[in-house]
Amino acid sequence: MLNKKSVDDINVKGKRVLVRCDFNVPLQDGKITDENRLVAALPTIKKLIADGGKVILCSHLGKPKGEPKPELSLAPVAVRLSELLGQEVKFAADPEVVGENAKAAVAAMNDGDVVLLENTRYRKEETKNVDTFSEELASLCDVFVNDAFGTAHRAHCSNVGVTKYVDTAVVGYLMQKEIDYLGNAVNNPVRPLVAILGGSKVSSKISVINNLLDKVDTLIIGGGMAYTFMKANGEEIGTSLVEDDYLDYAKEMEAKAEEKGVKFLIPVDTVVAKEFKNDASSRIAERGDIQADEMGLDIGPKTRELFADAVKDAKTVVWNGPMGVFEMPNFAQGTIAVAKALAEIDGTTIIGGGDSAAAVNILGFGDKMSHISTGGGASMEFLEGKELPGVVAANDK
Ligand code: AMP
Repeated sequence: MLNKKSVDDINVKGKRVLVRCDFNVPLQDGKITDENRLVAALPTIKKLIADGGKVILCSHLGKPKGEPKPELSLAPVAVRLSELLGQEVKFAADPEVVGENAKAAVAAMNDGDVVLLENTRYRKEETKNVDTFSEELASLCDVFVNDAFGTAHRAHCSNVGVTKYVDTAVVGYLMQKEIDYLGNAVNNPVRPLVAILGGSKVSSKISVINNLLDKVDTLIIGGGMAYTFMKANGEEIGTSLVEDDYLDYAKEMEAKAEEKGVKFLIPVDTVVAKEFKNDASSRIAERGDIQADEMGLDIGPKTRELFADAVKDAKTVVWNGPMGVFEMPNFAQGTIAVAKALAEIDGTTIIGGGDSAAAVNILGFGDKMSHISTGGGASMEFLEGKELPGVVAANDK
């Protein structure tokens, strides 16, 4: 089990604390359109301010590809964070990120002050984890805090490289929460443990399926991925999404489930249409009865019941990937039904980041889940059983 030092284990009074946050927020015309990531970062920042640290925040934003791009500046984040914190967050505008401006801003800090550095990906070294930039970042601080779960599966200067040059590297509250929920779910779950996987592709979830089959009591597969499993069983799937290169793999996984005694569920009925659009006329096809010119766009009503029944006594559920094309309201019923079923269980419910998190929030079930991960890629790698470099780099307890 991961046992990392956190902000609760250190004393930052009077110290310069560099905090790697995930401020990779969507922007439209310089305005932040979803501030969830800023809100999620507040507990750690407030704690460090209250403890009298000099709080230096950094993050990447989008993909400026190693050069300053004004439209990807973190300046709007400093403005909004100041409002959310109720105190000034000084923006260290600096094309070099750790150039003269940033150094001067840090040098002028008093205890409890907050400075935000410019987008770390303005520097081409960042994503290549080149020592020079890691050292520059480290030179600004005495203590490093990593609270950016969204990039924990990457080894970059600002989350991994920097820890080579700072003695004290700990995790923040957000990171700790992710490690606790995802780590416990996979490695030390309260059982029964049920995993629900959906979304478009089997190929992107190969390692997740394989790893989870060693851990779960029940594995549920819905969404576009399910048709590859149906076809592997010799069933007609019409024009549904399929990955023919993964038919053997699908068979292997079903066999592994049987061998391990894992209950393995795929849809028993499907909402099918002849066109990929919301107002296409649709019907319910029983398993094996999809016609050659039809595509499956959602799980059917019997499957909704089957899946809801399979999670109702679960004590831990991990869900990653929608059950159908939830972006189209007429094909969102399966995803809604699963979200409802999860909302009702007496257990821990964990939603992987990315599309599933978006689906749960858009459909209005966000506050009914125990934990919604802030990292799509990172939460997937957790479920794959991989070690995340951003987590490994923090000091052990
Ligand atoms: P992923 O990024 O692999 O998690 O997949 C998420 C996407 O899968 C969403 O945009 C869904 O619309 C899509 N999806 C889910 N079910 C289906 C389906 N039956 N056919 C086509 N796309 C689907």
